Amino acid sequence: MKYSDLVDVYEKIESTSKRLEKTHYISELLKKTSAEDIPTITLLIRGRLFPDWDKRKIGVASKLVLKAINTASGAGIPAIENMWKEIGDLGLVAEKVIDNKSQSTLFSFSLKVAKVFSNLRKLTKIEGIGSVDRKTQLIAELLSSAKPKEAKYIVRTVLEDLRVGIGDGTMRDSIVWAYMSVRVGYDAEAISIDVDREEYNKVVEIVQSAYDKSNDFSAVALAAKKGVAELEKISLIPGNPIKVMLAQKVTSMEEGFEKVGSPAVIEYKYDGFRMQIHKFKNQIKVLTRRLEDVTKQFPEVVDYVKERVEGKSFIIDCEAVGFDPKTDKYLVFQHISQRIRRKYNIEELAKKLPIELNVFDVLFYNGENLLNKPLKERRELLEKIIKEEKFKIIVSKKLVTSNKAEATKFYEESVKKGNEGVMLKSIDSPYKPGSRVGFMVKLKSEMDTLDLVIVGAEWGEGKRSGWLTSFTLACIDDDGNYLEMGKVGTGVKEKPEEGLSFGELTEMLKPHIKQEKGREVIIKPEIVLEIKFEEIQASPTYSSGYALRFPRVVQAREDRRPDECSTLDMVKEEFEKQKKK
Ligand code: ATP
Repeated sequence: MKYSDLVDVYEKIESTSKRLEKTHYISELLKKTSAEDIPTITLLIRGRLFPDWDKRKIGVASKLVLKAINTASGAGIPAIENMWKEIGDLGLVAEKVIDNKSQSTLFSFSLKVAKVFSNLRKLTKIEGIGSVDRKTQLIAELLSSAKPKEAKYIVRTVLEDLRVGIGDGTMRDSIVWAYMSVRVGYDAEAISIDVDREEYNKVVEIVQSAYDKSNDFSAVALAAKKGVAELEKISLIPGNPIKVMLAQKVTSMEEGFEKVGSPAVIEYKYDGFRMQIHKFKNQIKVLTRRLEDVTKQFPEVVDYVKERVEGKSFIIDCEAVGFDPKTDKYLVFQHISQRIRRKYNIEELAKKLPIELNVFDVLFYNGENLLNKPLKERRELLEKIIKEEKFKIIVSKKLVTSNKAEATKFYEESVKKGNEGVMLKSIDSPYKPGSRVGFMVKLKSEMDTLDLVIVGAEWGEGKRSGWLTSFTLACIDDDGNYLEMGKVGTGVKEKPEEGLSFGELTEMLKPHIKQEKGREVIIKPEIVLEIKFEEIQASPTYSSGYALRFPRVVQAREDRRPDECSTLDMVKEEFEKQKKK
């Protein structure tokens, strides 16, 4: 396929915010994509090079891209830099510069999608001496043969900032429209569809379920093109990360029972961080909730799982909780979060800040996919395969009951022990990866917080010079757009020993700086902060339509991917609840 065909679709998608319209354009593109190009197109359309479970990044800095634009155009670095300052988007800069150049050039051949993909993938493999030059060459080679609009999207893809906003739901629906045998009467004028809802939802569910298991739209699209039987063959593969099931929130035990039914499985809600652990081919892989591989950082977890979980291959879902080895007291998440990103002296830190693994689910066991088995059976299996030892690995503490008073007592006992509250789970429910479907709900003792992404900041002055301060926060909408909801500085410390500090946060943010204008810095959404606040207010100032009154940083949520931050819907829901109160 020609790259310009893909670029045409990017342009159309960029010009609309309507989900159905985007779905239409992508599905039309998929229909004309050959099986050979499907894997590439399903990734590139969302500006990606790897499936969702694969955490490799392109990781090329803006400065390098700027050099490549210069190599391809000969426009001169200062001129390009000036344009960048003015326009703010290097993609648009590349488009303009290549357009100026191309007035004098005739395009003799068309750039192929496969060529773009191949050069971009090479970028992710180059390391060591001379790597900057080689990377510049690879990008410049593409830009030299690109038409202006193509240059725009090549640059945005390289910078992992495509700006077209295609959420998982849109991608899934596009596959349904393109390949599944269900009538979708799309009306382009009214931007609406006319479908048999029941039949349509069934098909959507089949595609969603294949995606939940594989975390890979390329595999799903390829299978969908062949038919339902092929989709149903997609299964979990130990070793390939899968999205974790998420919980809805309830504010009372009553509401909890209403949501999950009676009797319910009630468990302690431990205050640690999520760990998904895979065993396959005698190998153990430890993943965070953002599906980052942290096996190296947690050598003791690997040992516990090897020694104390029976089975040749499995995927288990757990909460890792820190404790103080001197007092045997459990610690809140903040204390152990540093273990997630520690790259050196790992053994030493593991001794100082050990963790206990609380296992609460099993998704795959010895060749069998258990996602559709009822929770009750999965729990029973867990209890059989784990040899518990306190402060190493245990099965999460549970109570099965229909009795509200008993459940409340269990909740109080949990909170007294320092846990966050309880989880209530449907006894017959399947495991739904990546969803907040309400098969499990959380009941917490503390006021709720929001997890928001940093999208901007300001360089500090005086005592705070050299540090980023005043962080602009954003939530996310269904299409993956980050929407601002105000700034925060309170809660971040000057002295690192007092908690998350400006120095630390600055170091975390520096690699993600997209652009600077005076003291203002635009930051790629990567770092998630947990934010406490007094109240959510409607606000015309910010793109989300909301702002926080008295926001305060609680901690950095390093276990969270940016796209797993609080959604606009959650903010709205919270706002409505507040109004009622
Ligand atoms: P929170 O910020 O409230 O911890 P979250 O938004 O990070 O929640 P949720 O899915 O909404 O994530 O809440 C459930 C989280 O609670 C899980 O991701 C998991 O890390 C943690 N947890 C602790 N104990 C349990 C348990 N027994 N069963 C399931 N999850 C548990």
